[in-house]
Amino acid sequence: MAKWQTVIEKLWVIGAMITDTVDEIVDESAEMLKLGGERLTDLAALLVTGLDWILDQIAWGITFFGIHFLRRAHDFRMSLVKNKRAIQNGALYFIISGLVITFLFAHYINYSYAYNGRTLGIVREQKDVLDVLNLVSEELTQEYGLKVAISGDSDITFTPVLSFKKEIDNPDAVLKKFTYMGDIQTKAYGFFVNGIRIGTVQSEEIGNSIVQAIIKKYVGDDEDKYEYVGINENVRITEEDTQLSKINSKNSMIKIIEQGTTNEYRTTDENGNETVVKEEVPIMTVKTIGEETFTEVLEYEEEVIESDDYYEGDEFVTQWGSEGKQVVTSRVTRINGEVTEREDLSTEVIIEPVNTIRIKGTKEKPPTAGTGTFILPVNGGVDTSSFGWRWGRMHEGIDIGAPTGTPIYAADGGTVVTAGWYGGYGLCVDIDHGNGYMTRYGHCSSIYVSVGEQVFQGQNIAAVGSTGWSTGPHCHFEIRIDGVAYNPLDFL
Ligand SMILES: [Zn+2]
Repeated sequence: MAKWQTVIEKLWVIGAMITDTVDEIVDESAEMLKLGGERLTDLAALLVTGLDWILDQIAWGITFFGIHFLRRAHDFRMSLVKNKRAIQNGALYFIISGLVITFLFAHYINYSYAYNGRTLGIVREQKDVLDVLNLVSEELTQEYGLKVAISGDSDITFTPVLSFKKEIDNPDAVLKKFTYMGDIQTKAYGFFVNGIRIGTVQSEEIGNSIVQAIIKKYVGDDEDKYEYVGINENVRITEEDTQLSKINSKNSMIKIIEQGTTNEYRTTDENGNETVVKEEVPIMTVKTIGEETFTEVLEYEEEVIESDDYYEGDEFVTQWGSEGKQVVTSRVTRINGEVTEREDLSTEVIIEPVNTIRIKGTKEKPPTAGTGTFILPVNGGVDTSSFGWRWGRMHEGIDIGAPTGTPIYAADGGTVVTAGWYGGYGLCVDIDHGNGYMTRYGHCSSIYVSVGEQVFQGQNIAAVGSTGWSTGPHCHFEIRIDGVAYNPLDFL
């Protein structure tokens, strides 16, 4: 207690002394000014500054300790008066020291400045930083197209430091340091698709323009023709505080979205082998709803008409089919261009389809076995005297004259045993009727049957011609029993 009292008493002595002698000192300073000329002007100003400072400190002391010492004030005053001269000398020394300190302080104390805790450099005066903040905002706005506001009160802190001039940033250097600082805090907008962060954009407008760019990719300039155009996913653009360097450009955002993402999942095949399947998935999909018209092909069908005008197995087409065409107007929902829903509103047939019509014979086929009776194979002129010896050789059949192409019918049912070129007969058909009976048809122009085929009586097997040893179109017709030719006229 005694020590504290001593210290405080000394402080009070100094304070009281100063209070009493301020006027005196100022007077003395004035005298020194007159003597010392202009060089002392600064000194005098600093002297006053120093005194103000000291008085501030004392005022604080008095406030704090005042009540305690009021009681002792009288005693101190008495001692003050007693030691006035000595105290005056001490005070003068004290004041001059203060002036020196103030001088040093003014010339070598600078300020370290920091942006949100990150020290950037040292400036001569705080205003060297504060004055460029607006300019920094402007520069960053130009550089990034961002609204970057730096608050001198909340973002910047200053710390007094002792330093030499060469380390001190001029306002240009301060501007540069801020401009190239990527971790400047700024207001930006998080871009979320279905709750997943895709990136950070500079503004809500840019976020919206990204959405528009994705839409345009699928819709082009035809947005007006749709009754609905939108993103199928939930897109959220939310303001947030972020760092300048974390902001994505519009183009890089569009690239990320267009690239899509890859989903991976495991699958097991029938042998129990597990494989990882990778699947490309779009991040954002564009949904459109609108009316569209489709031209569609109408398929034709085949109609089969059964007819007993024709034998079983006989089949032919009387009309070949052709496709039709119709135009359908529909309300179509597309996702990324793919149709997901279609509701047909109206249909207009442009061309009706035409069906194929096929006739199918139902009449029971005559038996292909020989009946034992024969019919005349060609509807033509029969040379009744042609069988027998002629010009020195045996003519083993009859000749039936008819124009080339006239149908030749089987004289009776049987099995084809010859169908092709046969020496002087030219194109020739032989039919075996069983029981040793055989018929022959020579000089044909074409043949409709082949060896081994079963034919019935009256079946069109060939056409009249003039192939082989022939002088004109006719059918050479023979009937043989066990290889011996008989006059066919005897069997008809
Ligand atoms: Zn003949």
